[in-house]
Amino acid sequence: MLINGNKIAGDDLFEVKNPYNGDVVDTVPIAHLQDVDLAIESAVKAKKAIAEMSAFKVSNKLYEVYEKLKENKKELAKLLTLEVGKPIKESLVELDRSIETLKLSAEEAKRIYGETVPLDAGINGKGFFAFTQKVPLGVVGAITPFNYPLNLSIHKLAPAIAAKNTVVIKPPLDAPLTIMKFAELVDEVFPAGVINTVSGYGTEVGDALVTSPDVDKISFTGSVATGLSIANRAGMKKVTLELGGNDPLVVLDDANVDEAVLGVMRGAYLNAGQVCMGVKRVIVDNSIADEFAEKLVKQTSKLKIGNPLDESTDVGPLIHESAAIMVEEAVSNAIKDGAEVLCGAQRDGTFYKPTVLDNVTSDMDLVVNETFGPIAPIIRVNSVDEAIKEANNTDYGLNAGVYTESFRNGLRCANEIEAGTVFVNKQPTFRTDNMPFGGFKNSGTGKEGIKYAVEEMTKSKLIGLNLR
Ligand code: NAD
Repeated sequence: MLINGNKIAGDDLFEVKNPYNGDVVDTVPIAHLQDVDLAIESAVKAKKAIAEMSAFKVSNKLYEVYEKLKENKKELAKLLTLEVGKPIKESLVELDRSIETLKLSAEEAKRIYGETVPLDAGINGKGFFAFTQKVPLGVVGAITPFNYPLNLSIHKLAPAIAAKNTVVIKPPLDAPLTIMKFAELVDEVFPAGVINTVSGYGTEVGDALVTSPDVDKISFTGSVATGLSIANRAGMKKVTLELGGNDPLVVLDDANVDEAVLGVMRGAYLNAGQVCMGVKRVIVDNSIADEFAEKLVKQTSKLKIGNPLDESTDVGPLIHESAAIMVEEAVSNAIKDGAEVLCGAQRDGTFYKPTVLDNVTSDMDLVVNETFGPIAPIIRVNSVDEAIKEANNTDYGLNAGVYTESFRNGLRCANEIEAGTVFVNKQPTFRTDNMPFGGFKNSGTGKEGIKYAVEEMTKSKLIGLNLR
């Protein structure tokens, strides 16, 4: 762990295992409450050092971290593949996006503005000059999930630092290595204590961050269940929750079918389906559903499953065998309830074969819950109205995609689907790191995307001058 610029070992060690073959990749300490206390104390102490830096200096230092990450790109991508099991080509994309996220944060560090406020618009405000300043929150506790551990962590710590906060990060215990190595790069550039890492169990380490009176904000990405429990325990802290998704990809009768099939290919099987904004429901107009299903099965069957370090591998293992078993059970139950297997539906250890299911209905657990696996469940509908109703028939509201050649239908679906992002003619799994990102309904509260995350890492203070 990294606490106050020192690498700290622990008495208890956790073995981080490669999901592909079970080999131990490395070990990390299992932090306990005293370690979390030390990390928070170090972050509290470092507030002064970063507060005294100019925005110019903070920005330049973030650029230095950006350069360091570029230099370490290949090594960290390999480590990411070893701990998460995602294909190396996807890990390289995560690294490229992490580099971009850092650059956006370095740019944004120079754009933290307040505004002048016309107090004389109030009945008693004549003769004042007033303005707001965006001031740092203090200590940010960042808690992140296993599936995109590096970029999702950088989406928190880089905006936090850009806004002159200090950070304690709790990485996922299954995949902590890449973030912990990256934190060392940040620590080489910033004063000791600006960034601290504590590896450990969520219920102990995460909970200690959430309930500490010295932590001013929790920025969490993970499941709805954990997010809800954090919301209940965080008290008066600012909280950003980026939670699970059950994203629909809607294919209307006038869609370009080949493009829509490509959208599913890019959205349902990425990272073996373990993506918050992955395609989890494929809602297709009945009139083109047969053609769509046939083309989707043809493309799905071409995917290469195997060793994630092999550059030609398309689909790797899931994070654990238990995760693959959960997907297997959800698919088996859907089949019992009437879903038809068009391809896949086989598990081998941690691997689950990319699967297309037809005649799925919205009451099946597979699509009621967030199924974190490489599954494309086709739900057939008969009209645009029904497609919108079906898309909204979920407790989640992260992203959505709609395929149609009709401007009118595209805009109507975009307006009426309840989700934080709706793309027309693009899969919901598309994201650029500058765009506002965050779900409706149970998918969370608050926004990320660098400009928006920086905003959420500050508080607004009004200063008024009585000029009379
Ligand atoms: P998870 O909720 O199990 O764990 C996320 C993090 O929370 C981990 O670091 C974990 O140790 C920690 N944690 C667990 N219990 C805790 C507690 N009681 N208090 C504080 N922290 C605790 O999620 P996961 O399985 O790692 O990730 C998958 C989930 O994350 C999916 O639901 C996925 O959709 C979601 N996700 C959302 C986004 C988004 O941006 N909306 C992005 C990626 C993943």
